[in-house]
Amino acid sequence: MKKAVGKKKNDSRLKVAKFGGTSLADAKQLLKVYSIVKADPARRIIVVSAPGKRSSDDVKVTDMLIKCAEQKLAGKTAEPELLAIVDRFAGIQKDAGVPVELIEEIEKDLRQRLNSNKANRDRFIDLVKAAGEDNNAKLVAAVFRKHGLDAVYMSPKNAGLLLTAEHGNALVLEESYKNLSESLKGQKGVVVFPGFFGCTNAGEIVTFPRGGSDITGAVLAVAVKADVYENFTDVDSVFAADPTIVKDAQPISLLTYREMRELSYAGFHVFHDEAIIPAVHAKIPINIRNTNKPEAPGTMIVPERTYTSGDVVGIASSDGFCAVNVDKYLMNREIGFGRRLLQIMEEEKLSYEHAPSGIDNMSVILREKDFTSETEVRIIKRLTSELKADNVDIDRGLALVMIVGEGMHYTVGMAARATAALANAGVNIEMLNQGSSEISMMYGVKAVDRKKAVKALYEAFF
Ligand code: ASP
Repeated sequence: MKKAVGKKKNDSRLKVAKFGGTSLADAKQLLKVYSIVKADPARRIIVVSAPGKRSSDDVKVTDMLIKCAEQKLAGKTAEPELLAIVDRFAGIQKDAGVPVELIEEIEKDLRQRLNSNKANRDRFIDLVKAAGEDNNAKLVAAVFRKHGLDAVYMSPKNAGLLLTAEHGNALVLEESYKNLSESLKGQKGVVVFPGFFGCTNAGEIVTFPRGGSDITGAVLAVAVKADVYENFTDVDSVFAADPTIVKDAQPISLLTYREMRELSYAGFHVFHDEAIIPAVHAKIPINIRNTNKPEAPGTMIVPERTYTSGDVVGIASSDGFCAVNVDKYLMNREIGFGRRLLQIMEEEKLSYEHAPSGIDNMSVILREKDFTSETEVRIIKRLTSELKADNVDIDRGLALVMIVGEGMHYTVGMAARATAALANAGVNIEMLNQGSSEISMMYGVKAVDRKKAVKALYEAFF
């Protein structure tokens, strides 16, 4: 008997399972995904990424689509780029043995998108970018059906996944949860849902930030009140530090949402930091697992866990930051200085990451990609003339290194251990910051010292 999606009394468990790009990079991987879905009847909502890299020197379909859209915007035909994308899908179709008509449909869909209105550049790129997930979901559903699973593709637009109109950086709108719950409730069999995009209230396709299929999975898990949100990727678990920096970094079996959010924010790419938020509200556990090793339990991310004092779970790092350092004598006496400084950032459309301050100085940490040289000139001018700053200087090429753990709360001596480890490794600390939650400590270091800093901190805490 077919099971309907949505939990009823006495119904079995319901899982939302999201599969990332490397899990769907070719037919061999896709068949592993099929076996995983087939193995557990609770896996009834499947969220898919676009086909990812088959090897380290391969190109993700999403990147191929972006290049193709950019060629079109530059007035070129983009025919070779388009054919290369069709070829990626055709390879999967052929090896998985599903009808070739599907590829004809994919090609038609891509041509339609590429020939659509280009007046709004961001809108056009999003429409093309979303084709990777959208067509892959149709292909995955066809492969599942061929192997005997009752699977259907569901369109985010028809399902009511509504997002803000911020192209490439959308946020989910609250009404989506109700819409999705209703759309998914009556569905029979397995639903295959494309990740990464939704649509605006005006009906336009819009994407989440890169890696955003994780967010789609989280939103669906909340909408259907799933028992667990499984996120299948290509590693056995989350590790306590980037294994390319710290060989033999410890696997983490249990993390809290807060810990995962901090680690993802600071550079752990295994799970999108914005994908935690919906789960925080609905308290749905997240299980990071490996498509290539489905028997491994992976990492569970839960609302709370027991911990011991001084317990650190991970050390993350990320470069691409810069600091705007502002000095002004008697800053501490000037009511509203911080607000006016941040207001200038807001007016320049700069989102600030951190704002550590001293008595007569305040720094604002920004993402370097948003801080162009023209912006820099404008900001220095405004801070000097409008805030009468004594001095403004810009530090580029910074990395943030973050030590994270619930056990750091109320523990004396954590900062001392970290600073001593960095000093012994010869790493100069450019700035440090600790949020009021006290579950993380952030150190700003020169990007060239990033790996050295991670290694030194790992040795000190693990
Ligand atoms: N395919 C998109 C990307 O490469 C979204 C995702 O995979 O989550 O960013």
